[in-house]
Amino acid sequence: MQEVKSRTDIVSIIGERLELKKAGRNYKANCPFHGEHTASFMVSPELQIFKCFGCGEAGDVFNFLEKYEGMDFPEALKYLADRAGIKLAKTSFQASGEREKLIEIHSQALKFYNYLLLSHPLGQKALEYLKKDRGLKLDSIKEFQLGYSPENSLLLKKFLVDKKKFNPKDLETAGIGLVRGP
Ligand SMILES: [Zn+2]
Repeated sequence: MQEVKSRTDIVSIIGERLELKKAGRNYKANCPFHGEHTASFMVSPELQIFKCFGCGEAGDVFNFLEKYEGMDFPEALKYLADRAGIKLAKTSFQASGEREKLIEIHSQALKFYNYLLLSHPLGQKALEYLKKDRGLKLDSIKEFQLGYSPENSLLLKKFLVDKKKFNPKDLETAGIGLVRGP
């Protein structure tokens, strides 16, 4: 992404879409993001950013494409990389999907522990403890998604791998380090 950015000139990207006029070290245009006739939209070649002094929209070339063309970040990255003749490694596209998968693993683990605590015989003791000794209400336990993590960590693995079909390797990446064992 840094390489794409360093080989992209924000002035030419915006200049293809708006009529830019030179103004000292910067360029200005009528802002595309709010109706105006006074050209308070500035582009700085030096800083490679744009800023509108009328409506406050500002950012780098990615922000501009996202806002102006409705691209999402991976699309903007690909568009600029293609223009600059840069081949993107596949990983930069997988990165966001990868992160979502890890978040999903964590949220499933949380649900699983929550389920054990609330509805499974294994969690019964812990649930009693939270309610009686700690004075927690069932509603709060649900709201904060408290969970019970049993000593037998294989249960979580079984749930995530066998039932939810996650790849054991992804569990390791997610920092759920229970995947040793048989
Ligand atoms: Zn504006």
